[in-house]
Order: sequence, then structure tokens, then C-alpha cells
Amino acid sequence: MNCTIAVIAGDGIGPEVIGPARETLAAVAARFGHSFGFRELEAGGAAWDRYGDTLPPGTVEAARECAALLLGALGGPAWDNLPGGQRPERALLTLRKELGVFANLRPAVLLPQLRAACPLKAFAERGSFDILIVRELTGGIYFGERGRGEGGSNAYDTMSYSVHEIERLLRVAFEAAARRQKKLTVVDKANVLESSRLWREVTERVKKEYPAVSCDFFYVDNAAMQLIRSPSQFDVIATSNMFGDILSDEASVLTGSIGMLPSASLGSGGFGIYEPIHGSAPDIAGQNKANPLGTILSAAMLLRYSLGLESEGRAVEEAVTAALEAGFRTVDIAGDAANDKILGAKEMGRAVIEFISRRSEGEGATAGRGR
Ligand code: NAD
Repeated sequence: MNCTIAVIAGDGIGPEVIGPARETLAAVAARFGHSFGFRELEAGGAAWDRYGDTLPPGTVEAARECAALLLGALGGPAWDNLPGGQRPERALLTLRKELGVFANLRPAVLLPQLRAACPLKAFAERGSFDILIVRELTGGIYFGERGRGEGGSNAYDTMSYSVHEIERLLRVAFEAAARRQKKLTVVDKANVLESSRLWREVTERVKKEYPAVSCDFFYVDNAAMQLIRSPSQFDVIATSNMFGDILSDEASVLTGSIGMLPSASLGSGGFGIYEPIHGSAPDIAGQNKANPLGTILSAAMLLRYSLGLESEGRAVEEAVTAALEAGFRTVDIAGDAANDKILGAKEMGRAVIEFISRRSEGEGATAGRGR
């Protein structure tokens, strides 16, 4: 395959995690005989410093011309008080909205190799979970009308959802559940919020099209509690923008570290934005301490969802597992002092690439499977 992938490294640890992910994609291209070009774009604080604009003109159009966008992280304290109300995070929201990616897929998987890093006692020795959170990304309270009353005496944010927005998100979630354990949990606050009651009505209708998938509802406060109490009860969770934001961060901690978790943001075509779920981590930026695995696993999702390269995506995931199995750890996932081999971001990337390249020999029989 011959394609161009847009890359925005971003701020803080963004460039430190994007570098290894990009090299991973190049290693995949070399192993499987593809040609991936990279188109570097800028957004966020770095773009502000250079152009005085957190989303320079032409960025969205340039990304749209590519097969997918791989993104590090945007923002940081240095850009929290920019003139004209600009914020790096807003650039990200605009990118998502303009590129039409409305469904954010966030897998939270406890790998056996990282059990020791799981904060739940019952899971630290045995047990596992594999949850996919499907979060609505371009609607709800993050995009609703907001403002301040006269004199700043009050402030408001509006949560509004259309039937169309709910329905298209639910379809992505039902389809995903149908390919997995066939269990969908819709998380809302229908005992209080009218928009949540609309989510329930639409779910009741859409679920009839997916009779093989069982579907239940949880209030968000209960879901937050159940994630800690018994995460393995969940398969796919579908929820609104803000609830998904919060629950996926909660789920990430259970997997050992926020640095492990990838995400894919998809629209109705093949294009997607792929990014780790963490931010720019200013506290560790520039120290080569960041965990690049969430970004590398985002690159695996890019291969699978935007390029349709299932075997290649799996090869990346297997290489990550192999690196962990070999005891390689970044500091955030270190747990077993006797056996861990602590690596920096760059070295962890190289370890993963080593496993990708090493498997080229004698792979023939399995490489094309699943395409
Ligand atoms: P954060 O995710 O950047 O950091 C939270 C904690 O997790 C920190 O202790 C950090 O060191 C650690 N961490 C995060 N990623 C890690 C990794 N790969 N390896 C090891 N440790 C890691 O969240 P924050 O501190 O709330 O936000 C920092 C900045 O990032 C803010 O400006 C925020 O707005 C921005 N942000 C951007 C995005 C995005 O671009 N998608 C997402 C979240 C936050």
C-alpha cells in the first residue's frame, strides 16, 4: 500500500511519543512491503509559538488530504492564557469537528504482563479485562452553547444531542460489540438529564437492529463505581462526550498507566485521528521518560481502521506485548524491581521495532492472514 499519513507531534511529551510511533510505522512498511509517507503539520502550543495561531490555516485541509492523522498531544501551562481566547485544546476540538470524527474508540485492556501495575488488588495477581469505550466526540457539553451572565455572576454550558448524533455513535458501538463479546452498556444520567433520556429512547430503537448484542444501561455514577469494583463485567461502553472523557481516564489507570492507552477517532469514511489518550505531561516533558506505547498502539489502530491492514496492526500489538514480556518497562509501568528493564521513550520504541523486524524472518505463513 502507498499512502500519506499526517503527523502532528504537538507539545510537551508529544514529540517524544510520536517519534517512536512513526518509526514503528516505518518498520511495518519495511516488513510488509508498503510505502508510508508522512506529512508533518503543526497545531497547539508549538504552532502558537511559531505562527501565533494554535491551528494555522490550511492544517485541516492538509490533514484531510491524508489517509489518517497521527497526533501526540496539545497544550501545556505555557499556553494556558493566550490572547484572544485561543487554547491548544480548542484547536484539537476544532480538528476533530472539522475532520468529522464523531466516534472515539478507547480500548482499556489489562495485559497479563502489567498486572503488577494494576491498582486493583483483585486484579494485580490474576484476572483481566478488555473494555472498549466508544465515546461521542463532536457533540454534547463540550460543543454546546456556553457563556457568562451579565457581570459574570453566573456561567453556563449546554449539553445538547440530536437523534442523528446519538444514532450514528450507537451504530459504531453496536457494530464493535457484535465483533467482540456482544455486550453493550450505554452510560448516561437519565434520572436527571433530558439529553440522556433521548439517548435511551434512541438506544431502544437501534438495539432492535442488533439482536445478537445484549444491551443494558448504567447511570454514570454507578458506572464509575462498577469500573473499580468489577471492570471485567464490561465489554463495550457507549457514552456521551464528557462522560466518556472521564470514564476512559478512570479505566486507563486500571490498566497500569495512562501512557498505555491508544485511541481512534472515526467518522463515516476511512479517515481517522489516532492519538494516545494522555496529554502533554509537562511534568516529564523533555526527559525521555514518557511511555510511547499508547501512541504506538494508536498507530496499530491506524493500520487497522484507516488502512485496513489488520495483520500489520496485529503485528504491532504483538511486538508491544513481546517487549513487555521481555521485561522492558518505562518508569510509569515499572512494578517488579528484580526483573524490570527500565527504558526511556526512545529505547522502548526501539525495543518494539526490534520485535517487529525480528519477526520478518520466516513469517510468510502468517503475515497475510486476516486481510
Ligand atoms: P496528562 O495526561 O498530560 O498527565 C497526567 C499524568 O500522567 C502526569 O503525571 C503525566 O506525567 C502522566 N503521563 C501522561 N502521559 C504519560 C506517558 N505517556 N508516560 C508516562 N506518564 C504519562 O494530563 P494533564 O497533566 O491533565 O494535562 C497536561 C496538558 O495536556 C494540559 O495542557 C492538558 O490540557 C493537555 N491535554 C491534552 C490532551 C490531548 O492533546 N489530547 C489530552 C489531555 C490533556
